[in-house]
Amino acid sequence: MLPTLGYAAQASTTPLAPYRFERREPGANDVQIEILYCGVCHSDVHQARNEWGGAKFPMVPGHEIVGRVVNVGAAVTGFKAGDLAGVGCMVDSCRTCGSCAEGLEQYCEKGFVGTYNAKGRDGLITQGGYSNNIVVDAAFVLRVPTTLDLKAVAPLLCAGITTYSPLKHWQVGPGQKVGVVGLGGLGHMAVKLAAAFGAHVVLFTTSEGKHDDALRLGAKEVVISKNKDEMKQQAGQLDFILNTVAAPHDLNVFLSLLKRDGTMVLVGLPDQDPPALKVGSLIGKRRHLAGSMIGGIRETQEMLDFCAEHGIVSDIELIPIQQINEAWARMVKSDVKYRFVIDMASLKNGADAS
Ligand code: NAP
Ligand code: ZN
Ligand code: ZN
Repeated sequence: MLPTLGYAAQASTTPLAPYRFERREPGANDVQIEILYCGVCHSDVHQARNEWGGAKFPMVPGHEIVGRVVNVGAAVTGFKAGDLAGVGCMVDSCRTCGSCAEGLEQYCEKGFVGTYNAKGRDGLITQGGYSNNIVVDAAFVLRVPTTLDLKAVAPLLCAGITTYSPLKHWQVGPGQKVGVVGLGGLGHMAVKLAAAFGAHVVLFTTSEGKHDDALRLGAKEVVISKNKDEMKQQAGQLDFILNTVAAPHDLNVFLSLLKRDGTMVLVGLPDQDPPALKVGSLIGKRRHLAGSMIGGIRETQEMLDFCAEHGIVSDIELIPIQQINEAWARMVKSDVKYRFVIDMASLKNGADAS
């Protein structure tokens, strides 16, 4: 077994603390990666605090992983020691169902294996990227562009693909007015990507202080969502809305901003359902309300390649792992500019472990 050092939650109410555990030795199809950076996603908090139910403890969160390959199994051809590599939210799936066959492993009919808080096909509970190494089947390992700032690439593995996938699926592009709700980790990637796709982006935020950043990131307009007059000016104006909010909120307010036939896609997954839907706001203009979950492995690679081509990375605050609990507290208060990334060099073998 492979000795590993990470930070884990021991229960839904305890802070993250150093934790020693073991991973499987790399098998024939596996890639062993020394983790260099791991992004901090709001889903890490939802899961470690058991806000979605089904939490498995101890839990080492983290699914925005970039690092360097240190070892590969005999059957692996796509990676070799020394390569950069990335791992996102999934480390396995059934690979035979209709969704898997289409490259949509995130919708695997048997359920994909999450990077952490899941049971792997090796029988072990999976543990994530707030740690110094990981062993993953090569079919779920991404090639990381060498031309981008590596620490700012990490958040693309979840925040990037989760926003790229619906923007592509609903064919967002030039001539469209696209709303992004919430300027956090997902939201700021949605703004960058929708702008790169040629859309006119309107950012909806609860934080007045994020106005200038939103314009810098690529939004053409910024609306303070509490301001009823500003909201009224957008009524019926938007072709598409990507809603990234991590807390329950009134969806009707945003549905009313869609044009006829417009679509709002939810990617934020709060711990409670929102206030009741007004069905009339859908029917009156033949509007759509939809959801979307991360993206498949093939599309994640496409997204990384697109970001390399267009020089797109995340805006990050780099932290040592010892500051993870403070970072979570700030993220929950919507005070992150715009993704925390853990510098795994701070996790010196032995120095942290109890
Ligand atoms: P985040 O960095 O905390 O960003 C969420 C943003 O939502 C905040 O920055 C804030 O933006 C806004 N917000 C927070 N509370 C709000 C409230 N009460 N009312 C209105 N707006 C509020 O979180 P994240 O990492 O981007 O994740 C966002 C959500 O997506 C989480 O629920 C996460 O679990 C989920 N997620 C889903 C998928 C998927 O596959 N569907 C993948 C990854 C994450 P402003 O300050 O601009 O208002
Ligand atoms: Zn995530
Ligand atoms: Zn499947």
